Amino acid sequence: PIRRLVLGNWKMHGSLAGNGQLLAALRTGWHQTSDAASCDVGVCVPFPYLAQVESALTGSDVAWGAQDVSVHEQGAYTGEVSAAMLADFGCRYVLAGHSERRMLHGETSDTVAGKARAALAAGLTPVVCVGETLEQREAGQTLGVIRGQLEPVLALGAGSVSRLVLAYEPVWAIGTGLTATPGQAQEVHAAIRAALAAIGCAGVRVLYGGSVKAANAAALFAMPDIDGGLIGGASLVAEEFLRIAEAG
Ligand code: 13P
Repeated sequence: PIRRLVLGNWKMHGSLAGNGQLLAALRTGWHQTSDAASCDVGVCVPFPYLAQVESALTGSDVAWGAQDVSVHEQGAYTGEVSAAMLADFGCRYVLAGHSERRMLHGETSDTVAGKARAALAAGLTPVVCVGETLEQREAGQTLGVIRGQLEPVLALGAGSVSRLVLAYEPVWAIGTGLTATPGQAQEVHAAIRAALAAIGCAGVRVLYGGSVKAANAAALFAMPDIDGGLIGGASLVAEEFLRIAEAG
């Protein structure tokens, strides 16, 4: 079986004081068992808090990462943060192509693939996000949209794809309280799995994201092609996030 991953995405939330409490609770509340059934857990935080998170979580069973990365290695790119900088702060994961970045910051699927490539080159695990809008779903375009978003990422080749994580996040389910039903999510996950299998990467983890809560996590994670979750709002509350991780 594929090892599960439950990853928090704090988005643009947090403060030094508030993070301190949340991180301490995660550190004490999550202990990985050596048991193969246990899942990996991590949090993706705003850049300025990476130093705080590194110091709070080093030696714990909770990994960390960032929410975006530059496609460039270094240079005159004001405001950008490179993959090597993230690696400097102990990041294991970095999100690439979250729908909020695609929609609010104009990231194309080619850019997203470039970010995944940059992250891999620095030894990070990119978590590439894909997902359709409500309009696209209602127009019956869901699987076509996902295929289009995956295309430049899969073109990185099996050697790269085997080292990344995918996340299916239907845009209409993000922050809306509207979760995809386990069946709706599974249908898309199965299509993603088939695309991965076609290049020999069936073992890549495919997370579901969009209004995952402790109350619905177990039913989602029980689906055959859902390998964990990408958790927004619920990752800001230690108790809730830990209960989701336990469902993983
Ligand atoms: P919510 O869990 O708040 O719906 O956010 C999902 C998400 O976008 C995680 O990346």
